[in-house]
Amino acid sequence: MSLAAGRPVIAIPGPSPVPERVLAAAHRASPDIYGEELADLNLQVMEQLKRLAGTQAHLAPYIGNGHAAWEAAGANIFSSGDRALALTSGHFGRSWAQQMEQMGIAVERLDFGSLPADPDMLARRLAEDKAGAIKAVMVCQIDTATGVMTDIPALREAMGDHPALLVVDAIASLGCAPMMMDDWGVDVLIAASQKGMMALPGTCFVWYSGKAAARGRSQLTTPYWDWHARANAEALWRFWGGTPPVQQIFALDEALRMILDEEGLFAVWARHAALARAVWATVDEWGQGDTGIRLSVKDPTARAASVTALALPGADALRSWVAANCGVTLGVGLGAEQPENALRIGHMGHANAAMILSALGAMQAGMAALGIPYGPGALDAAARVLAEPA
Ligand SMILES: *Cc1c(COP(=O)(O)O)cnc(C)c1O
Repeated sequence: MSLAAGRPVIAIPGPSPVPERVLAAAHRASPDIYGEELADLNLQVMEQLKRLAGTQAHLAPYIGNGHAAWEAAGANIFSSGDRALALTSGHFGRSWAQQMEQMGIAVERLDFGSLPADPDMLARRLAEDKAGAIKAVMVCQIDTATGVMTDIPALREAMGDHPALLVVDAIASLGCAPMMMDDWGVDVLIAASQKGMMALPGTCFVWYSGKAAARGRSQLTTPYWDWHARANAEALWRFWGGTPPVQQIFALDEALRMILDEEGLFAVWARHAALARAVWATVDEWGQGDTGIRLSVKDPTARAASVTALALPGADALRSWVAANCGVTLGVGLGAEQPENALRIGHMGHANAAMILSALGAMQAGMAALGIPYGPGALDAAARVLAEPA
């Protein structure tokens, strides 16, 4: 017998759950793509996306996933042979650095393992670069593999008056954790629709500052990826370099309305923070008594609001058990030392307390069924966190 029938719970760190309303909004035939209705809606969505990022600067939309957005940003920032400094705290930061290398960029890495990027180390490295050869500092605000969150304003401050652009991958953080692009002095921000934005996979976005824009086209800027052409578009097709992703625009409009106009961005951030604390409290209790269950990130201030990575002996078997018996899907232990004994719990986007409690409850049932030792009182701890006033 399985208890998995019923509404599935997806607790992976992307693609994240898409609200019914957002799916329904996309369920519409394409109107005239040269008509005013869609052009106006597209402009509205662009304005909402700027609100989401906390910027009044430029925004270039693309049809693609997060990897496409990396390439889009790279093609506009760099010329072949340019130097970049990548601050990495996990698999995603490292993959991004590698992709830029494959584009011909000389990427130097400061690897922080599963700790957040250290502003002092950044300051020391940039102080040595008297000639200003480093064109950009690249960092993931949240590395989705380790669940590490880096302090972006602290990095900006550490950069002082070094001319490098600060380039931030916010794919797993935008719409989950605070981001104020203009106030924080971020020059290039990268995100995609399928995580904190609660929309469908398939669109991605690069926001860029006046300082980044002033550098003009680089040697790698090909017509399709050129951000200037999109950000300064007049005709709808130019925003998207061809046919606009019509149904995606409908979906994004609905999702951004829910985030920005209905729940409110501050409330959305607070919800993510509370759900994350409930997950951490649970894992801490499961870890009591040398069970070997522990959070990957020790320092609570360096933990992501959108995803939690943990070590858990028997994690692979547990993931299979909760999927087969409870209808809960958990994330794989991407990039962990022992991937079979690691997993990730996604709590990003359209996730509420009931969904998180169900994922945690299913995990505990699975540990009981499989004989995986766990400390007592963990679900009580989650309940207490959720009972706290915000
Ligand atoms: C998901 C993710 C990516 C990759 O996005 P894709 O849409 O899978 O290409 C890159 N960076 C971070 C931080 C992510 O979370």
